[in-house]
Amino acid sequence: MGLKLYDLVAGPRLLHLSRYYSAQESVELFPTLARKGKDRTLKGTVVYYDGQMNDLRVNVGLACTAALAGAAVLNHAEVISFLKDEGKEFDGYAKVVVNVAGPFCDSVRKMADNDAKPMICPKSGVHIVLPDYYSPKGMGLIVPTTKDGCVVFMLPWLGRTVAGTMDSSTTITMLPEPNEDEIEFILDAICDYLNVKVRRVDVLSAWSGIRPLATDPRAKNTESISRDHVVCEDYPGLVTITGGKWTPYISMAEDAVDTAIKSGKLSPTNKCLTDNLCLIGGHGYDPASFTVLAQQYVRMKKSYSSKVMPGVMDAATAKHLSHAYGTLAERVAAIAQV
Ligand SMILES: Cc1cc2nc3c(=O)[nH]c(=O)nc-3n(C[C@H](O)[C@H](O)[C@H](O)COP(=O)(O)OP(=O)(O)OC[C@H]3O[C@@H](n4cnc5c(N)ncnc54)[C@H](O)[C@@H]3O)c2cc1C
Repeated sequence: MGLKLYDLVAGPRLLHLSRYYSAQESVELFPTLARKGKDRTLKGTVVYYDGQMNDLRVNVGLACTAALAGAAVLNHAEVISFLKDEGKEFDGYAKVVVNVAGPFCDSVRKMADNDAKPMICPKSGVHIVLPDYYSPKGMGLIVPTTKDGCVVFMLPWLGRTVAGTMDSSTTITMLPEPNEDEIEFILDAICDYLNVKVRRVDVLSAWSGIRPLATDPRAKNTESISRDHVVCEDYPGLVTITGGKWTPYISMAEDAVDTAIKSGKLSPTNKCLTDNLCLIGGHGYDPASFTVLAQQYVRMKKSYSSKVMPGVMDAATAKHLSHAYGTLAERVAAIAQV
């Protein structure tokens, strides 16, 4: 029922209709799926379709698109303090500062007001990478509630399988690392639903990230930690937006900008222009463009016998470049071509 509603809400953006599969159909579609678990038998599955994005590429794409639209972009630059006028008004280089330091946003808020109440309740999320043979091509597995009350998923990712689970409390550090218990926990949780043993030696890599779950410093009930985003101006001229997810980033940005406009009493010359803005590399993108890329790419390289031979681009590389860089893939390939 929920997934049918999901289809309905997607409207014209619906990828494919979700549907129910019997146990027999399910194991045909997903051969590593177990028919029997410890205390249960597989009755069937529901298949639904969702989008997948490469957060790294979207992030860089956003920064480049913003630069093209006139923003001054500076990466690898740490905010170390604010320029203030006698502690009351900002006398810096911007009328409003928007603090988007994620799990670190409290330390930035404290630069403005040392007594600022913490907003962040950091949760670590661990993901592991496994060989592609654990899940079929183009299909993943999500168990909304495991025996431990967690969400467990296994998804195809960049030619491998990525598996992960729910979050646990953590401390804020620039270099979070997964611990062995967390890796074992994921292996144990997915093994419960598969008919093959997922071995520790199959873990190709593992990483940990910090989710900035947030409380609203103005809320009466500070215990209420939300998975939604929180925007607040808890010091004049300093707007903090944190929490939330990647998925609603556009509406999060809109809320932050609206709050910044109010905070700085700014007078925007136009309405929001980014509603339908295409990110850099998205204009004229065609899913078949990887074919043209592979056709056009010829790199002269030396063979073992020292003969200069034309090198071609294999389909997997062409698809990867096209997915990662969109219409700019040709320019990336050109760098490798020289
Ligand atoms: C394991 C995991 C899985 C997730 N899966 C999903 C998912 O499937 N879907 C989804 O929608 N969301 C997902 N999320 C959530 C999503 O990744 C986060 O919501 C998002 O990264 C938070 O973005 P942010 O920009 O607020 O913070 P961050 O991405 O943490 O960025 C904050 C940035 O601020 C910088 N910074 C900190 N201090 C300073 C300073 N003093 N000066 C300058 N820069 C500073 C940091 O270096 C960092 O680059 C996941 C998160 C994790 C951890």
